[in-house]
Amino acid sequence: MQSQRLQRVGAYLFADLDRKQEALLAKGIDVISLGTGDPDLPTPEHIVRALEDGARDPRTHRYPPYSGTGEFRKAAVQWFTRRFGVTLDPEREVLALIGSKEGLAHLPWATMNPGDAALIPDPGYPVYRSATIMAEGEPIAMPLSAARGFLPDFDAIPADALRRARLLFLNYPNNPTGATADLDFFARAVAFARRHSLLLVHDNAYSEIAFDGYRPPSVLQVDGAKEVAIELHSLSKSFNMTGWRVGFAVGNAEAVGALGTVKTNVDSGVFKAVQQAAIAALTGPQDVLAPTLATYRARRDRTVAVLRAVGWQVPTPKATLYIWVPTPNGQASVEFAADVLERTGVVITPGIGYGASGDGYVRLSLTTPDARLDEALARIRRAYG
Ligand SMILES: *Cc1c(COP(=O)(O)O)cnc(C)c1O
Repeated sequence: MQSQRLQRVGAYLFADLDRKQEALLAKGIDVISLGTGDPDLPTPEHIVRALEDGARDPRTHRYPPYSGTGEFRKAAVQWFTRRFGVTLDPEREVLALIGSKEGLAHLPWATMNPGDAALIPDPGYPVYRSATIMAEGEPIAMPLSAARGFLPDFDAIPADALRRARLLFLNYPNNPTGATADLDFFARAVAFARRHSLLLVHDNAYSEIAFDGYRPPSVLQVDGAKEVAIELHSLSKSFNMTGWRVGFAVGNAEAVGALGTVKTNVDSGVFKAVQQAAIAALTGPQDVLAPTLATYRARRDRTVAVLRAVGWQVPTPKATLYIWVPTPNGQASVEFAADVLERTGVVITPGIGYGASGDGYVRLSLTTPDARLDEALARIRRAYG
């Protein structure tokens, strides 16, 4: 009893690995997951308090406005302007989301017709592809390779694909590769989108998760970007709030409006107390993230050191929560992840789960508590050193 469009989305690629993991757990083996990218550190205290206060106020108990409260939209705009130096109209150019994944999933419904194509990064966050298919669109992969710094080669996109394309998905800092893009790249992406009448959809979920002084840009910092681009932001990774489900979209007023119209037909917005907590996050002290970033950075450095010590060739990522590891001798990613699981009890994600071009890589996440991460690294060192 599955629709054809759901069948086309296909089976969950990690199902086989999940089964292996469960078999090991059943045998009593202590499995450590470096699989999901889900911050283990708690949400900052002042944000939790704002939720508490909000939850006790009966005015939050009713339906929220669809596009976010005026205060939320103003806070998002204020944060964005302070962070990126770009002004936005809080009435037309910003929209509250139930997490950025929700916005990404609904955008194709809002902006594509059946048969239109969407250009998606491969490897990439799986939602770009599945959401395109559910809107009866055609995902067209843009292969990302280490040789090009995991940036897509716009000139390599076939002309007939370009004629059918309506959306261009980008995501920097990038999940799963950890790659980053500079403003120069975004300027080229905006020009490309303009030339081919594409809506550029930039997923900026990791804008605040960066190290060593690096500050990721927004695509909207490019002159004229608002004419062709929408950018999605999330509080999930920035403020350790993955469970809270809140984010926002900014940029092109028409796209923001269309997405908002889909949402009025699908959901009824973000719980107002959660919006109040998000306002506390966006307008409160921005240095609350510093200790979290220091933790990730230390984990990154310990992980990279161990992986290099066992001969796995990994670069040091400037941003995101991930280490993207080429498999030894180009082994298939599912095979290698299964080997690591069997020999160490450590779960890592096979790159093919993010697209065909992700094969030959595995992803390690830095969101496991220090002691468990160190135990996992010790096991990897013993098994492969
Ligand atoms: C985590 C993640 C998101 C989703 O974040 P939510 O706001 O929690 O829905 C979106 N895009 C990428 C690339 C992510 O890794």
